[in-house]
Amino acid sequence: MNESRMRRCRDRVFAMVTVSLAVLLLPVAFLSRPGRARELACAWALRLRFPAEDLTGLTPGARAAFDSARTDALWRHGRLLGLTSGHREPSVQQRLFDEEVRRSGSAASARLLVLPPGESSHVKGVALDVRPKQGARWLEEHGARYDLYRTYDNEWWHFEHRPGGVPPRRLPYPGAILDQDTVPLRTNGVRLAR
Ligand SMILES: [Zn+2]
Repeated sequence: MNESRMRRCRDRVFAMVTVSLAVLLLPVAFLSRPGRARELACAWALRLRFPAEDLTGLTPGARAAFDSARTDALWRHGRLLGLTSGHREPSVQQRLFDEEVRRSGSAASARLLVLPPGESSHVKGVALDVRPKQGARWLEEHGARYDLYRTYDNEWWHFEHRPGGVPPRRLPYPGAILDQDTVPLRTNGVRLAR
């Protein structure tokens, strides 16, 4: 079995276990908050599945949208949605950008994957890097209902909360708009992922 098939298989088992846990926790959640039992049971089960995730620093709108989306993903379709990276302090974003500049050789090439703090949606608290891939696919399909959109071709995991009812134009990579005078826009056919 190759690695990606093993990962998919493992993710499916984790999803089944987490949904079962949410079902088991539902009566307790109902006693605690009858009106929000499904959301609460889902949050508890996901906390056990993704113990390291940190939702602090997201804007209240982004947080509420993500909570609603992952509650529906779990209860309606048995899909898990975890957060690998949400809000970032400017100093953290600067470090990530500097590391990518060093790794890739220039600021222009770093911007294919990482933006400096002044331009990053992670620093603004409206960006969410999600996992696993099946969860990201679910969010790509259903995210508009929660104003959550995938914004880059080369990052399947990166979504942004963009309220207002107008879906953002998906860009080929993070620095695309700002760089379009100097760096040619890439098409879907070019693989840019890390
Ligand atoms: Zn991101």
